[in-house]
Amino acid sequence: MHVLRSEEKNSIAFIGLGSNVGNRRDNLKKSIEHLRKNSNITLIAVSLQYDTEAFGYKEQPRFLNAVMKITTTLDPYALLNELKKTERLMGRKNGKRWGPRIIDLDILFYNSQVIECKELTVPHADLHMRWFVLKPMSDIEPDFEHPIFQKTISQLLEELNG
Ligand code: AMP
Repeated sequence: MHVLRSEEKNSIAFIGLGSNVGNRRDNLKKSIEHLRKNSNITLIAVSLQYDTEAFGYKEQPRFLNAVMKITTTLDPYALLNELKKTERLMGRKNGKRWGPRIIDLDILFYNSQVIECKELTVPHADLHMRWFVLKPMSDIEPDFEHPIFQKTISQLLEELNG
């Protein structure tokens, strides 16, 4: 497990949650509870939950989406690992991209870091065009600034809503 140097402790991260299989509300709740049990993660806030149309393949059930804010001592890669472990624990199989899923957990933002590598893109790609990310995130941190676009979540949401 990667643990950060002490001066970098307690980074802030926003995690996107989505579910469109089974009891969606329960799936979100269980994943949040599981992540909360991790001593390297502190839950700060959880947004409201939004029932949204599936992205990608439209011929699949609607999603329930939310965003959580955490502080963490894990670096972005270790955090991604924890999210993947949680997805597996919830019974998620590696299905097709943008297909139905019990739970999908994404790192939306990690402080104001920009990361581009094979396994991790932060801020999460295309989040600025996704209502199901911007809306719940605006519940908990509307003034957070996207480090690439240098616009706040409220501004991006306003632009998306046209
Ligand atoms: P998905 O099917 O949407 O769950 O995508 C899974 C893969 O996306 C993971 O195996 C990650 O390596 C990759 N990925 C890239 N950027 C991110 C991110 N910001 N958060 C979560 N997964 C990411």
